[in-house]
Parts: sequence; structure tokens; C-alpha cells
Amino acid sequence: MLKFKRPHTTMPMEAPSEAAPDASTLGAGVSPARVLEAAHDYFDLDGLLTPEERVLRHRVRTFVDAEIVPYIGAYWERDETPLHLFKKIASLEIGGGTIQGYGCPGLSPLIAGVLQYELTRGDGSMATLFGVTTGLAMQSIYQLGSEAQRQRWLPSMATLELIGSFGLTEPQIGSDAAHITTTARRDGDHYVLNGAKRWIGGATFADIIIVYAQDDQTGQIGAFVVEQGAPGFQATKIEHKLALRALPNADIVLKDCRVPLGNKLERCRSFKDVARVLATTRAGVAWSAIGHAQAAYEFALAYAKSRVQFGRPIAGFQLIQAKLVEMLSELEAMKLLAWRLSTLGAAGQMTDGQAALVKMFNASKARRVVALARETLGGNGILIDRHVARHFADMEAVYSYEGTHEINTLVVGREITGMQAFV
Ligand SMILES: Cc1cc2nc3c(=O)[nH]c(=O)nc-3n(C[C@H](O)[C@H](O)[C@H](O)COP(=O)(O)OP(=O)(O)OC[C@H]3O[C@@H](n4cnc5c(N)ncnc54)[C@H](O)[C@@H]3O)c2cc1C
Repeated sequence: MLKFKRPHTTMPMEAPSEAAPDASTLGAGVSPARVLEAAHDYFDLDGLLTPEERVLRHRVRTFVDAEIVPYIGAYWERDETPLHLFKKIASLEIGGGTIQGYGCPGLSPLIAGVLQYELTRGDGSMATLFGVTTGLAMQSIYQLGSEAQRQRWLPSMATLELIGSFGLTEPQIGSDAAHITTTARRDGDHYVLNGAKRWIGGATFADIIIVYAQDDQTGQIGAFVVEQGAPGFQATKIEHKLALRALPNADIVLKDCRVPLGNKLERCRSFKDVARVLATTRAGVAWSAIGHAQAAYEFALAYAKSRVQFGRPIAGFQLIQAKLVEMLSELEAMKLLAWRLSTLGAAGQMTDGQAALVKMFNASKARRVVALARETLGGNGILIDRHVARHFADMEAVYSYEGTHEINTLVVGREITGMQAFV
């Protein structure tokens, strides 16, 4: 028998509050409390966590509901980044996720993923900035940097005092990331970077940007830590974006940008090293997709239970229940797949293909869930203050970043056939 034991928290703000169900409509043997719990964690994801991890999960969920959800819609609408809200995440002491030491919490891949889901359930822009700083940028330094480089940057990134950014994509090179054209030329005790980057999250205000470029000495891709304001570095916000609006993406121009030798990450020797970082963070994005879908589902469920048409709550109609159940079934499948990916990651057995498959699967299922949630709210589904529209729009970015659906499909295809179909 299923046990639903965790305390239930509801979404604040404009979301209709969820009253306990009317016992007279439930049928024999079903309690109102069980209905409420079943609606939110049907296969008891909490039960897969340790007691300490459960506490942490609920601390993050409570924080997000109180500190982010009530405020973020207005920033999203105005296309502004509430850095003060972002910095509050530091109080949760989760920066750096799975990294051991350097002021990081050394979480298991599972709880790190679940926390990424909880942050995204609040807001995708804040969660993406968290993922870029403490995932992509910190993992680049952790996996590719020397011990001295780790000591130099990781502790202040873990506390979000330093914000990091990750610059791989270029205007003319997106999916074909192994063939970036930005160059790094050795000149005395500096490297000189030339080229352009596009879509770089947070690069307009980040303190450090990990820029990937072709090293003229090795001909291979290297990673360079560029400090904000370095001469020759210019980041310009990409305007008119319709997803993740509370986090700017930048076009970067590097024109004879001088970077000290000590800022070249010492253990980045080829694109394979970059791919290792991306596989780690792809697992986090698979969890982010769940966060968007979970938020949209919770709002849709609460709305359906309170919105009355034809004299009764729309949740009582079979066609609405079919939508809610489809959302829930996709959600729970996504969670179980992400859970398995994380446990394989913890055992050091996760392959690039497995990470690609779960990112690809979860992003496409989440896209379906947010669309179903949006239509469940009818016209209100396109209003920002109802939240679902924000998650609906943000899922479009998740679908395309950290490897598009097609590229992740091809990574899996390569792993199961032994044949590369990219070109
Ligand atoms: C909101 C957002 C945030 C981002 N943040 C960052 C960041 O912080 N840092 C960073 O470096 N990058 C970032 N990116 C870039 C992101 O990783 C790229 O958008 C992504 O890799 C795809 O590249 P592209 O947009 O140039 O599309 P393209 O590579 O031009 O692809 C266009 C379409 O063609 C398809 N396609 C390409 N090649 C093939 C093929 N061989 N077979 C079949 N189909 C193919 C793609 O799947 C896609 O549908 C971000 C992107 C977005 C939208």
C-alpha cells in the first residue's frame, strides 16, 4: 500500500488554495488527506530520500514558495533579474551541489537533482542561474581545474558571492560544439582570446565567465576563466526573449581579450573533457524539466478544483481528469527515470547516452505537461500572474539548451548503434 507521509505545502499567491476534498464525493475507503498527498507525490519520491535529504528538500521547497514564487512573475514580465532574490538562495547552503570540499555540501546526485527540481518548480530563471553558476561553471572548475584553481574560485561561488557563467555556444556554432572557432593564442604570460559567444546565461553581470576556445598550442579546446570587465571582453544582453525572461542571455565579443596564464583551467585538454562536464549538468536539466512540469500540474490541479463551470468544479469532469492524470503519469515517469539516472551517477556508472536520454525524454514530456496545464486554466492560462504561462514559456528554453532534443537523440543513437549520425 502507498504511504503518503510528508507534510504537504501548497503554492501561495494567486493559485487557488486547495481545500481538503469533500469526503462525500470520494467513495468508500478514500480519505481527504490521502487525496491531497497523492496529488503531489504519487509515487512517494520522498521515500527514496534519506531523512536528512527529506528535510533539505522541504527547506528548499518552503523557501521557494515564500521567497521566489510570490515575486518572480513581475520580474519575468519586466525582463529583469532579481539578483537579491537569487543571492538569498545562498542561505540554503546548497551551492556546489555534489562537489565535496571547497565549502560545498557534497550532496548525492539524487538530492542535488531533486533540489534543482524544487528550485525550478519555483522559477526557471532563478534555477537556471543557480545551475549555470553552481553546475556548469563550478563543475568546469572542479573537473577541469587544478587544485589551486579549485581553491581560488569554488568557495566563493558556493556561497554565490561570485556568480559564474559558461561560454561555449557561438553565433555560428550551436549544436556542433566540438567545432567552436574562438581562439586562444599564447602571448608571454597571457592568453589572447578572439571570437564571439552567444546565448551565454548571466554573462552580462557574472563575475567570471568560463570561455571555451581553441588553444593555439594544442589545437584542442581549452577553458579560460575570464573576469567581468577584462579588457577586450564585451557582453551584450540578447533582447526580446520569450522564455526565462528573468535571466538575461548575452552575446559576447572577445577582441584581443587578455587572460593571465593562471586562468587557463589546467586539466581541460579536449572537447571530451567539456562533454564530461555537460553530461553531469545534463542530469540536472532533466530534473529541471520535472520542476516546470510539477509546478504547472500543481497550479492546474488547484485551479480545476476551484473553477466552477456548468454548476460544478471542472475537476469533476472526466475530460479534465484525463488531462490531470496524463500530466501526473508523465510526471511520475520523469521522476523515476531521473531517480535511476541519479543513482547510476552516484555509482559512477552513468553514461553520456543515459544522461542524454533522460534530458531528452523529460524535456519533451514536460513540454506536454505544461501545455496540458495551460489549457486546463482556459484563458487564465495565458496570464503571467497565474504562473503556468511562465513555466510554459520557460520549458521552450529547457527543451533547446544543454543539447537540443535532436542532438541528445543522436547521442543515444550513437551509444546503442555504435554509429555517429551527427554529420
Ligand atoms: C535560453 C538559452 C540559454 C542558453 N544558455 C547557454 C549558456 O549559458 N552557455 C552556452 O554555451 N550556451 C547556452 N545556450 C545555447 C544552447 O546550448 C544552444 O542553443 C543549443 O546548443 C542549440 O544551438 P543553436 O541554438 O545554435 O541551434 P542549431 O545548432 O543551429 O540547431 C537548430 C536546429 O537544428 C537541429 N540540428 C542541428 N544539428 C542537427 C543534426 N546533426 N541532426 C538533426 N538536427 C540537427 C537542432 O536540434 C535544432 O533543432 C542557451 C540557449 C538558450 C536558448
